[in-house]
This record gives sequence, C-alpha cells and structure tokens, in this order.
Amino acid sequence: MNNSLSERDQLVNWHPYTQMQTAPPPIGIVRGEGAVLFAEDGREYIDAVSSWWVNIHGHAHPHIAERVSQQLRTLEHVIFAGFTHAPAVELSERLLKLLPANQAKVFYTDNGSTAVEVALKMALQYWHNQGIPKSKIIALEGSYHGDTFGAMSISERSVFTRPFQQYLFDVEFLPVPVPGQEEAVLAKMEELLTRPDIAAFVFEPLVLGTAGMVMYEPEVLDKLMALCRQKGVIIIADEVMTGFGRTGKRFAADYLTQAPDLMCFSKGITGGTMALGVTTCTHQLYASFLSEDKTKALFHGHSYTANPIACAAALASLDLVEPEDFLQNLDRISAAHAAFALVLKNKPGIKEVRQRGTILAVELEVGATTYFHSLRDQLYQLALENGVLLRPLGNIVYVLPPYCITQAQLNQVYGVLEQMRELVTKAV
Ligand SMILES: *Cc1c(COP(=O)(O)O)cnc(C)c1O
Repeated sequence: MNNSLSERDQLVNWHPYTQMQTAPPPIGIVRGEGAVLFAEDGREYIDAVSSWWVNIHGHAHPHIAERVSQQLRTLEHVIFAGFTHAPAVELSERLLKLLPANQAKVFYTDNGSTAVEVALKMALQYWHNQGIPKSKIIALEGSYHGDTFGAMSISERSVFTRPFQQYLFDVEFLPVPVPGQEEAVLAKMEELLTRPDIAAFVFEPLVLGTAGMVMYEPEVLDKLMALCRQKGVIIIADEVMTGFGRTGKRFAADYLTQAPDLMCFSKGITGGTMALGVTTCTHQLYASFLSEDKTKALFHGHSYTANPIACAAALASLDLVEPEDFLQNLDRISAAHAAFALVLKNKPGIKEVRQRGTILAVELEVGATTYFHSLRDQLYQLALENGVLLRPLGNIVYVLPPYCITQAQLNQVYGVLEQMRELVTKAV
C-alpha cells in the first residue's frame, strides 16, 4: 500500500467531466489551508477557482471546522419529514434575512442541480395546482443550471447534453442581454411573453458561469424581470454560483430592484464544507401548494434533506458572510482584479477582459475556440506548473478565488495569466 494516492485512484475512481483515457493522472491532495492546496508530492497550488466555485472562505477554515465538529457530537442527522432541528431553523431564519424581502420559505436539497430541479417543479406545479395550463420555460442561451435532466433541459444544448437530447424538454432560449444587445433582447422577451403558455423565466443573474463568465448588467435584468412580473410569469434566479459574495455583493439580487419569486443556492453556501442545496420562494408561491387536498403538496425530497452537519457548516459560513467587513474584503479583491484588468486589457493576445466583483475573466485571442481546444489543456498545465489551479473554459481563463486570498497570491495568479497571454501571442 505504498503506492501514491494518484496511482491508487486510477485503479478505482471515475472523475467528473474527465475523459479518463487521455486525462493526466489526478493530483493527490493531502491538506488545504487558506487559498492553498498541498499535494502528496510536496507541491503547493493556489486554488484560484475555489475548487469549482464552492470554497469561498479558503480551505479547512477553523471556525467552520469547530462549528461542524460540535454539531457532529450533537446531532448528525434526522429525517426532515415530520421532524426538524435547530441548524435548519436557524439557517432558514438567517438566510431569509439576507435575501430580498419577498423570500418567505426555504426548501433544502443537496446540490445546485437539485436546487434548480426543485425551483422548476415549484414553478410548474404552481400553475398546475391552480389548473392553469402554463408549462413553457424561458432560459438564457449558453446557460448552465446543472446535470440532472430538468437542469440539463433548461441549459444550453451542447456536447455535454447531446447523448440525452431526446429526453430533454423543450424550452424557449433568449439571447443573453450582453452590453449592446439589451434592446434586442428586451424586444424578444416582450414577443415571447405574448404567448399564453409561459410558466417561468430562469437565469443566472449577471454572470453566466459555465458559458465562460459571460456578463450582463443589472439594469437590463431588472427590465426583463419587470416584463415577467407584469405577465405573472414566475421568475427564477439561479444564484448557485453568484450567491454568497461572488459578484462583489452578498447576492447578485443585491444589484437589482426587482425581486425573483424563486432563488437557488448551493456552491458557496457551506463555504465548500458540505454538500447542500437551497431553494427559496415567496409566500405567494408557497401558498399555491396549501390545500386540504394532499395531492397539491410538493412531492420532492432527498434522504439527506437539511442534513444538520451541512446546515451547521452553512451557519458557520454565514458567521463570516454577515459582518460588514465581509463586503469590504470583497471590495479589496474586486479592486485588485480591476487594476489588473486595466493593465491587461489592451495588450496583444487579449480579446476581452470582463469583471464582476471577485470574478475576473480573460478571453484570449485565438482562432477557432471550443471547450476541447487543445490550447485549453496547455493553459491548464501551464498554470499547474506555476503552482496555480485555474480551469480555463476553452480560451476563457477566469479567476474566482477564495475570499481569503492575499495580494501576493493574487499577484502570482495574475502572473500566470500574463504567461498565458504570452503563450497565445506566440501560438497565433
Ligand atoms: C454549478 C451550478 C449548478 C449546478 O450545481 P451542482 O452543485 O454542480 O449540481 C447550477 N447552476 C449554476 C449557475 C451553477 O454554476
């Protein structure tokens, strides 16, 4: 048993989003601290993508560890049908206080995809329970809402979804209202909303993550939401990635004047400590399920619904998210990103630099670009060789760091982006 983790892993594990035949061996990680991951071979990596966008406070945060271990010794789990517990009650109370005032109820699941599935079911059953035949969903082109079938259906059709195409339900795709396209997209939305069967509009607010950190402005989203509101169309904000500080405010919703009917959260909610999904809704939506008739209930639940350990991790994370200095620290990262974006913007090899809060995306100038572009793998390896974990989406490299990242660590990450720029200018 003295083989490395990496070697043993390859005998038994199947990794996500990985072509197992050609992918390099996985890197065995033995420890994490702050923004840094420590590998079994002694190397260190700055986790500049917060381990798939979940790890907002850095690794092995002592406060979260303490709170979780207390909970482990108190109550590890209890069925959430017919029973409840303090961590779930307290988490819902505190979460609702941070969200738009119209959010009234919290439904727990295990991950972002299920948080979205539940929002879809709530929106569709809202109409069904009232006997109103509305079932069409509007989604944004290029969007990503998860890997379960409902979530795939409202996501961009791509090589990811092709084998399942015939099982995905049809949705109406609206172009993303990126700067310059606002009026055209608003007109398209008005046209779509003349249809009588539109049930809901679902979107990633302000930043489409998997699409390549595609960004649009709060003003146009407010207008799209207002159009939906006029027609009674259910508004679903998927804040799975944007939630808990990522966009520079606690939630993307904090940039808006309109409020969604349904909100989805996961990723940052436990600071990357436990799997947890949350769907919140308005009282109006919740009330449509209230009846003497049992068939009008929401028939959805997971074995680990509202797991107390996960809720405790989320509470500990909220302890760090609620104080005012949380926002000041986000400003620190946003300002560092903005300053670097200014330096990079007009250099050769750069097509576009985008930034929203703690998210910095650099679109490199290359020829044909797809997710499978071989350049992508070169960029990924280049970062690793320089002690930084970055996961380019094709020719788009983004930085989405844990909020504890230091300026020195950010500078190291920016240095890698400069090297990537130099690499593509040579390759072109
Ligand atoms: C990651 C993501 C999801 C899916 O979450 P999982 O926990 O990976 O299932 C859904 N929506 C958005 C916007 C995401 O970024």
